[in-house]
Amino acid sequence: TLSDRLADTFKNLRGKGRLSDADIDATAREIRIALLEADVALPVVKEFVGAVKERARGEEVSGALNPAQQIIKIVHEELVAILGGETRRLRYAKSGPTVIMLAGLQGAGKTTLAAKLALWLKEQDKTPMLVAADLQRPNAVQQLQVNGERVGVPVFAPEPGNGTGNPVDVARASLEEARRKLHDVVIIDTAGRLGVDAELMKQAADIRDAVQPDEVLFVVDAMIGQDAVTTAQAFLEGVGYDGVVLTKLDGDARGGAALSIRSVTGRPVMFASSGEKMTDFDLFHPDRMASRILDMGDMLTLIEQAEKAFDSEQSMKAAEKLATKGGFTLEDFLQQMQQIRKLGSMTKIMGMLPGMGQFRDQLENFDEREIDRLQAIIQSMTPAERANPKIIDGSRRARIAKGSGRQVSDVNQLVDRFFEARKMMEQMARGGGMPGMPGMPG
Ligand code: GDP
Ligand code: MG
Repeated sequence: TLSDRLADTFKNLRGKGRLSDADIDATAREIRIALLEADVALPVVKEFVGAVKERARGEEVSGALNPAQQIIKIVHEELVAILGGETRRLRYAKSGPTVIMLAGLQGAGKTTLAAKLALWLKEQDKTPMLVAADLQRPNAVQQLQVNGERVGVPVFAPEPGNGTGNPVDVARASLEEARRKLHDVVIIDTAGRLGVDAELMKQAADIRDAVQPDEVLFVVDAMIGQDAVTTAQAFLEGVGYDGVVLTKLDGDARGGAALSIRSVTGRPVMFASSGEKMTDFDLFHPDRMASRILDMGDMLTLIEQAEKAFDSEQSMKAAEKLATKGGFTLEDFLQQMQQIRKLGSMTKIMGMLPGMGQFRDQLENFDEREIDRLQAIIQSMTPAERANPKIIDGSRRARIAKGSGRQVSDVNQLVDRFFEARKMMEQMARGGGMPGMPGMPG
């Protein structure tokens, strides 16, 4: 994943604390690969990475984040911005029924989506009606009827008998029906082809002209990857649309199509469809999609937490405590370790923690279970020993080792480490600040 690769890239850069051109270039390479792997179109990748580099160069050096984290944060923010920032809402007609028309290739998920959207609207106290304007495939009408029944929304379809009808006529007639029956939203399902073709485009354009939709939504399967851009462009020219719906996000596609389509067509992705169930549907969330494209949700959480922790109240308390000489106890030491563990899977992210300084090597050999061992040792100490580790002499060490089921050498190591950490923190306190992670020696 990108996290792993970036961790490697930044092995040599940790602790530098500022964004150099070399740092930026190294990260840009990895981000480029990650985006291509997520099926983002190459021209879009190029433009995007260019923009990120530009911004990274002008960026102030962060106190809370190391260079890798800082660049990832920029990448994430830029992704969210391009994907649309805030989710765009449906525009409803000022009077009469709101007309939503769906367009897209066959198999994109239009018919399924029509019903999901209808259910979603129903839950918002709308009274939608579905319209079967796909008269191409023999069972298309029936499929919409089945879906309509599942969500309890009526379907307008050509009468059996005159069922060879013209989809443009059906669409037009559906508006009359909606007015008569007081439906406030009309969702028109249309036919698709396996590939883009002129006849399909003309039919969709004719329906559009006949019903003048308030929203034309282009429905596209996230799994088609790189082809999404050409298809999206063809439909933009052939039919035109206001928004995009990405389907089949329950598959393993990373969703680069969202970024490509948004950049190339300028149309926002409005909804996301993610499964066969009628409730597998939601507004599109740019931040979630950005994390998915980057494939590094954990890292983003870590960055957020590190930034939060940086100026948290807890760091103030720690600093205060340090100011009093000898105030840093084994209890605090343990608490720090536990705090670090909370930040995520240690072994994986250790290299990415900010402000690690000289403690890097020590911490690199530090696994999660070690915190449990440290905890066991510290808990075998008396309160007096924890508060004033200086009194822990040879016989006390033997007793503590026995109590925690560890070796005396383990106890020795812990005590040494504690004193080293305390020294470091006192130096820092004298230096007038808490660089890097609070609770993190180094
Ligand atoms: P249409 O040809 O554009 O109308 O597409 P359909 O709605 O008929 O969907 C084509 C196939 O994809 C059907 O088998 C659907 O059940 C399936 N499908 C639609 N949306 C999703 C989705 O979000 N996730 C998954 N896994 N399958 C979907
Ligand atoms: Mg269909």
